[in-house]
Amino acid sequence: MGTMSEYATYRETVIEVKLDRIAYNVEQIRAMVGKDVKIAAVVKANGYGHGAVGIAPAIMEHGGDLLCVATLSEAIELKLAYPQYPVLIMGLTPDEYLPDVLQYGILQTVDSLRQARVLSELAVQAGVTAGIHIKYDTGFHRIGFPDCEKSLDEIEEISRMEGLKIEGIFSHLVLLDDESNLKQYQAFTEAIRRLRARGVTLPCCHLADSIASVDYPEYRMDMIRAGAIIYGLKGFHKGSLDIRQALVFKTRINHITEIRAGEGVSYDFMWRADRDTRIGTLPFGYADGYPRNLRGKAFVTVRGRRVPIVGVLCMDQCMVDLGDVPEAQLGDEVVIYGDGTGGTLDIQEISQLAETNKNDIVSRLTARPPRIYTKNGSVESVKTMLGDTGRFQ
Ligand SMILES: *Cc1c(COP(=O)(O)O)cnc(C)c1O
Repeated sequence: MGTMSEYATYRETVIEVKLDRIAYNVEQIRAMVGKDVKIAAVVKANGYGHGAVGIAPAIMEHGGDLLCVATLSEAIELKLAYPQYPVLIMGLTPDEYLPDVLQYGILQTVDSLRQARVLSELAVQAGVTAGIHIKYDTGFHRIGFPDCEKSLDEIEEISRMEGLKIEGIFSHLVLLDDESNLKQYQAFTEAIRRLRARGVTLPCCHLADSIASVDYPEYRMDMIRAGAIIYGLKGFHKGSLDIRQALVFKTRINHITEIRAGEGVSYDFMWRADRDTRIGTLPFGYADGYPRNLRGKAFVTVRGRRVPIVGVLCMDQCMVDLGDVPEAQLGDEVVIYGDGTGGTLDIQEISQLAETNKNDIVSRLTARPPRIYTKNGSVESVKTMLGDTGRFQ
């Protein structure tokens, strides 16, 4: 373990991911659901921006049972790094790539008889058994078998296909209100009851995402699919769960310009100084995954004080008004957003300013900022666009 400066990051804008907090959150979730409910950790979209490969061990070594992603490439990335971890693709995979699903031993979501036939045939040819989860649509109307008799017939037929093993069945809640949740839950459990009455084996039934697994314990079933809460992002409002935000997005002041009252900053002079002031330039922009529409609304934190981002945010740089922090100087650390301590904005505040949700704020973080993985303040590893960077020798 080492300090930040011992590792090459190639730039000053970095994302620190606190692995101890990811581990803590998973342990809290385990304590909440007990030992009989499995925890599927949702690490799609590069682990909500935290880096799926970087965080997977912290999850799986502290109580996670399964990793869930949205797409095949996300699944393959994880399987190449950790062949031993089970990975479920919750979305649909085009037929032409099903051989890759089999090759890497990935669990695949299936929502049609047609695709089940294709997968069964490929599995038989390859001499393997494909583990699948059936997606059942109880009202979200995204993917899934429609809730009807014909679907039960088709799922029963799939359960008899060679080369396939139904390892689970799942649905997804709209989370409109208690009444609509209950309606979906009842439709789901009724379909499960009727499938089981036909002799279909359904080992793992799951419905709840982060919010549902905290707010509606009665919908946890055999497994929860926890995304946001793994990262310490709280969207629930009825239940409670002590979790901690794991991500800090930070940079350093790399240029300071003194300007006179009336002078403007950045494209189109969308902002002009109303006093003589100092402008600090920060080497991050919207290409790092920071919302461009935060101009005129957002703050960053320098020396414990919030300073406004001024002028149009550029792709790779932005400017802040340092007028109220005269002691700020070149090289000062700047927290773009953190966990709310030390005067920083947390992800909840940033998402409100950007008029979006917390998952959107973190999942849009691009590959460009290096991820620095820390445990109790010490660096464990650094992942840049060029891969893992070792320590300076
Ligand atoms: C993304 C996703 C989740 C996790 O959602 P959170 O709100 O982040 O917990 C669960 N289930 C499915 C099907 C998803 O697509």
